[in-house]
Amino acid sequence: MRIAMISEHASPLAALGGVDAGGQNTHVAELSTALAADGHEVRVYTRRDAPDLPELVQMDNGVAVVHVPAGPPGHIAKDGLLPYMGEFSQWLVRQWDGGEWSPAVAHAHFWMSGLAAVNAGRLTGVAVVQTYHALGTVKRRHQGAMDTSPPRRIGYERALGRSVDRVIAQSQDEVAELIGMGVPRGRLSVVPSGVNGQTFAPDGTTARRDAGVHRVLTVGRLVARKGFQDVIRAMQLVPEAECVIVGGPPAAELDDDPQARQLRQLAEDCGVGHRVRLVGGVPREDMPCWYRSADVLVAAPWYEPFGLTPLEAMACGVPVIGTAVGGLTDTVVDGLTGDLVPPRDPRALGLALRRLLNDRVRRFAYATAALDRARQCYSWQRAAEQLVAVYGAVSRVRQPSRVVA
Ligand code: UDP
Repeated sequence: MRIAMISEHASPLAALGGVDAGGQNTHVAELSTALAADGHEVRVYTRRDAPDLPELVQMDNGVAVVHVPAGPPGHIAKDGLLPYMGEFSQWLVRQWDGGEWSPAVAHAHFWMSGLAAVNAGRLTGVAVVQTYHALGTVKRRHQGAMDTSPPRRIGYERALGRSVDRVIAQSQDEVAELIGMGVPRGRLSVVPSGVNGQTFAPDGTTARRDAGVHRVLTVGRLVARKGFQDVIRAMQLVPEAECVIVGGPPAAELDDDPQARQLRQLAEDCGVGHRVRLVGGVPREDMPCWYRSADVLVAAPWYEPFGLTPLEAMACGVPVIGTAVGGLTDTVVDGLTGDLVPPRDPRALGLALRRLLNDRVRRFAYATAALDRARQCYSWQRAAEQLVAVYGAVSRVRQPSRVVA
C-alpha cells in the first residue's frame, strides 16, 4: 500500500530535544520504518525548513522524506505555521493528482497537517486518517493565557474530527477527550504509540554513574508542563539520591538557557543543587544508555498526550514513577510496572520515590513487568499492523467516490 505521512513541523530527519522537536518526530520516523519493513511504500511530507534541503530524501530504511515548499525555507515555530498550510495542501494536490505517486491513504500528524491533508484528500480522493498527538482543548485547560496556539485551533480540531475518515487516539484518556469534542465514537480507533525494542533494551552500554548513589532520571524538553520543578522539589524527600535531567539544548548551551537556569536555581533554593544535574539534550542514540543507568525513571508531566519516555524506560527494564495523566495511565500499570502519583504534587512524588528506592525487590519486580509490557503491547510492528487494518478499511470506502479536481 502507498501511504503518505503528513507531518508539517516534525521531520523524521530532525534532531530531537529542541523546543518544537520531540515525540512526534520519533513517532513518525518509527511508524514509517515499521510500515516500510512490512512492505509498504511510505513517503513522509514535511515542510521545507532550510533552503538547501533536497525535495526528496530516500532513507536507508525504505522511507522517503519529501520536503514541501510552503512558506519561507527557514525555521518557523510550530505555532506560526498555520498560514502556510494552504500552500502545503496545494502542493500535495499537485503531487498526488499528477499520478507520479498517488497514495491510498494519508495519515496526518498534528492538527495543521490534518487541515492540509483533508483539503488535499477532498480534491484527490485520498482517504485521511488523523492522529492529533496533542489537543488544543487540553493545552488551553492547562496553559490558559500562556497557550501560544493559534486562537482557532480548537475549532479546527473539532471540525477535523468530523471531516477525516478515521481518528486515531493514542490512549483511553484521549478517547474521552475526543468524544467530549464531538468526534463520533464510530470514527475513533485506539492505536498507541510504540517503542523500538531493539534500540531500547536492557542490555548495552550504560552512562557512567557513582556507585552507591541511587539515580533518578527524568527526560524531556525543558518546558514547564514536563514537571521538572516538581521532580526537583521531590528530591528533598529522597536524601542521597541524585537526579539527572536529560533534555533541552545541548550541554554547551545550558548556561544561557532561561529554563535550565531556572531549574538550577530552584534546585539550589531547595538545598538539592549538588544532587541535581542537567545533562542537556543528547542524541536519540544515546538515550538507551541514560535509561539503563537509572534506578527509576520519573515522568512528572502536568498533562501528557502520550509520553514516549516512560515507554522507552520500560523497554530498557527500568521502573517508572509517573503522574496519572494522559497516556501514562495506560502505559504505566500502577503497582505492577511502576507507580502513578497525582500531577503537580512533589510530596506524593517524593514519597513514592523514597518507597521505591528503599525497596530493591519491588524495583526488580516492576522492572521485569515493565519490560514485558513494553515488548508485548507496544512494539512498532504491532502499531503498524493495527494501522494497516485501519488504512485498508478507510481507503476501500473512499475509492468508489474518487473525485478529480
Ligand atoms: N529525547 C532525545 N534526546 C533528549 C531528550 C529527549 O532523543 O535529549 C527523545 C526521547 O527519547 C523521546 C522524545 O525525545 O523519544 C520525547 O518524547 P515525549 O513523548 O516524552 O515528549 P514530547 O517531546 O513529544 O512532548
